Amino acid sequence: MHPRHRFALWYAVLALFAFTALQSLLGRHRETIAYSEFRTLVRAGKVTSALIEDRRISGLLLTEGIDSILPEERVAAIASEDEKEHAFVTSRMEDPELVALLDAGGVRYVRRASNPWASALLGWILPFGLIFGVWMLLSRRMSAHSGMMSVGRSKAKVYIEERTGITFDDVAGVDEARAELVEIVDFLKRPDRYVRLGGTIPRGALLAGPPGTGKTLLAKAVAGEAGVPFFSLTGSDFVEMFVGVGAARVRDLFRQAQEKAPSIIFIDELDALGKARGTTPGIGGHDEREQTLNQLLAEMDGFDSRAGLIVVAATNRPEILDPALLRPGRFDRKIIVDRPDLLGRAAILRLHARGVKLAGAVDLDAVAARTPGFVGADLANLVNEAALLAARAGKEAVEPADLDEAVDRVVSGLERRSRVLSPREKGIVAYHEAGHALVAASRERADPVAKVSIIPRGIAALGYTQQQPLEDRFLMTREEILARIDVLLGGRVAEEIALGDVSTGAADDLRRATELARHMVTEFGMGSALGLVAYPRASQATFLEMPGVVGPPPYGADTAGRVDEEVRHTLDEAQARVTGSLRSLRGALEDLARRLMEQEVVDGETVRGLVVANPVHDEAAERDPVCGMRLPAPTPPLSVRRGGRQYHFCSAECRDAFDRDPDRFTIR
Ligand code: ADP
Ligand code: MG
Ligand code: ZN
Repeated sequence: MHPRHRFALWYAVLALFAFTALQSLLGRHRETIAYSEFRTLVRAGKVTSALIEDRRISGLLLTEGIDSILPEERVAAIASEDEKEHAFVTSRMEDPELVALLDAGGVRYVRRASNPWASALLGWILPFGLIFGVWMLLSRRMSAHSGMMSVGRSKAKVYIEERTGITFDDVAGVDEARAELVEIVDFLKRPDRYVRLGGTIPRGALLAGPPGTGKTLLAKAVAGEAGVPFFSLTGSDFVEMFVGVGAARVRDLFRQAQEKAPSIIFIDELDALGKARGTTPGIGGHDEREQTLNQLLAEMDGFDSRAGLIVVAATNRPEILDPALLRPGRFDRKIIVDRPDLLGRAAILRLHARGVKLAGAVDLDAVAARTPGFVGADLANLVNEAALLAARAGKEAVEPADLDEAVDRVVSGLERRSRVLSPREKGIVAYHEAGHALVAASRERADPVAKVSIIPRGIAALGYTQQQPLEDRFLMTREEILARIDVLLGGRVAEEIALGDVSTGAADDLRRATELARHMVTEFGMGSALGLVAYPRASQATFLEMPGVVGPPPYGADTAGRVDEEVRHTLDEAQARVTGSLRSLRGALEDLARRLMEQEVVDGETVRGLVVANPVHDEAAERDPVCGMRLPAPTPPLSVRRGGRQYHFCSAECRDAFDRDPDRFTIR
C-alpha cells in the first residue's frame, strides 16, 4: 500500500475511535429503558420531565426508591449512588393513553416536532455522506493502480520532490555511469552556458542495468546534485484503464516539468510503457499503451531542451524497448549501470556501513570478496541484516560472524532468484572465460577483447568476454568467421586443458559455434567438400511458410549427412587449432584465470599483455584444491593443515569453502 493511503486510513480509524469514545461518554448519562419500564416509572411518579419526539421519549427520572419498582440489575444500571436524577431514553410506541398517563404521573412534558433538516441530515445526508466518504477512500486507493478517478490529471504533482537530498556521495561502485551523469548535472545547473555556444543538449538518458544496481538512486542523485525538481513516474502508472488517459498524463507531466525547468523527468520501468509496438497484436489494451508511447515520443521531440529539461528513464530490459525511443533526440544516451565489481562492492558496503557500528575485526573487503554478483540493493540489505542480527544478540557492534551469517541469508534468498557461484564453480568459469579471452586476443581476425568478467550476468551467463568490434560489419570473411568459432570454442578447450574436465557451461558456445559452421557450409559456400551450392534450410523450403511447421530438408538424406559431416569437420579443425593455441599460452591462461579469481574483471589491455608476455608455466606447481587454480610459486598465500597435509589456497573464499567441507575437496 502506498504511504499516502495508509495515512488516510489512519485518519478514518482515529475518527472512529473519537466517535465511539464520545458516544460512550454521552451514553453514560442516558439509560435506555424499555417502554414498559417507562410506563411503570411514570405511574409510580418517578419521571419528572419528558421530551416527546417522533420516535422516542427522553427525560429525567428520580433514582430514589426505584429499587422497589424495577428488578435489581436494572436499578444498578440506572441509579448510581451520588445522583438523585438520571436521564433516560426510550423508544416511542403507538400509545393513545400516553398523555393521560403523563398527566396522572405529574410529568412536565414537551412535544418537539422533528426538525425536517435534522431528520434529513440523519436519515439521508449522513448515510449518503458516509457512502461518499468510503467511495472516495476506495477510489483514492484504486487510483494508485488505475488512476480511474483522476482522469487526465498527472500524478506527477504528487510525486514531485523539490529536493531529493541525494547526491553522488550516496552512490558507489558505479563510477562509469556516474561519470556520464556528471555532464548532465552540469548542463542542468547552467543550461544557458551550453545554449550560448550553440551546442545540442541531450534530451534523454536511459539507465540500463539489472534491478537493484542503483538506477533510481542515480537519477535522484542527478536531481540532487543539480538542485532541480525531480518528477518521477513509473512506466506502469501510465498504462491506464481508459484509452487516452495515459497520453493526457504524459502531456500534463511535460507541461508541469517545463514550467519548473530546469528540472528532471524520471520514468522508471520504461519497458512497461515502451515495449516495441506490434509485438503482441490482437489483445485489447495495447492501443492504450501505444497511444501513450506515441505521446511520449511526440513530447520528447517537442519540448524546448534549452530551458534545461532532461528526461531520464530506467529499465532492466533495454532489449525490448521500441527502437523509436532510442533514436537521436530521444533516449539516445544509453548509460549502462552494471553489477559492481569487487572494488565497487567494497565501496558500496563502506557507504552503507557508515551509520552502522562495526567491530574492529570486521573486514569489508573480505565481505566484498564473498559476494560476487551482488548488486547495490543486495549489499544494502546485507549490511542491514547484519546490524539486525547483532542487535538481536545484544551485541555492542556488528562482528564478522554477523556479516557472515547475513551473507549466507542474502545468498540463500538470491539463489532462488539468480545464480551465485560457489568457489569451485568460480574456478571453472575463470578458466572458461580466460580461454575465450586469450583466443580472441591471439587471433588477428577476431574483434579485440574489451574486458573479461566472471561476475554472473542474469540467469544464463556465468561470465562473459566482451569484444569490441573495430567497425560496423556488413560482410564477414571466412577467416573472420573461423576466428569467431575459435573464440567460442576457447572456453571449453581451456577447461579441458587446465582442469582435465569439462562442464555444462559451454553448451551455449557450442550451439553458436555449430550454427556458424553450418551457415558456412550451407549458405556461404565456405566448406571444402560441398562446393558453392546453397542448401536452403528446412523452414525456408516449406511451400507454405507457416511458423512451427517444418518440412523435410530440400535435399536428400545423403546430402544432409554430408552437411553434418562437413560441419563436424569444421569444428574438429577449430578445436585442434584452439587446443594448440591455448597449450602454447598455458602460462597466460593460468595467470589470467588467477587474476579473474582475484579481481573478477580484467581489461583487454591486460589480456593482450599476457598473450605477449606469456609467463612460464610450471606444470609442477601446486593446485588450489577448491577452485583448481595453479598457485604461484614460491609462497602460496593461504594454507590449512589437515590430516598431516598442508593445503594451499588462492583466496580466503576457497580456504573457507575447504574448511566447511574438506572431504569434498581432498580427493582431488
Ligand atoms: P534500481 O533502480 O536499479 O532497481 P535502486 O536505485 O532502487 O535500484 O536501489 C535500491 C537501493 O539499493 C538504493 O536505495 C540503495 O540503498 C541501494 N543501492 C543500489 N545501488 C547502489 C549503489 N550503487 N550505491 C549505493 N547504494 C546502492
Ligand atoms: Mg528502481
Ligand atoms: Zn581458489
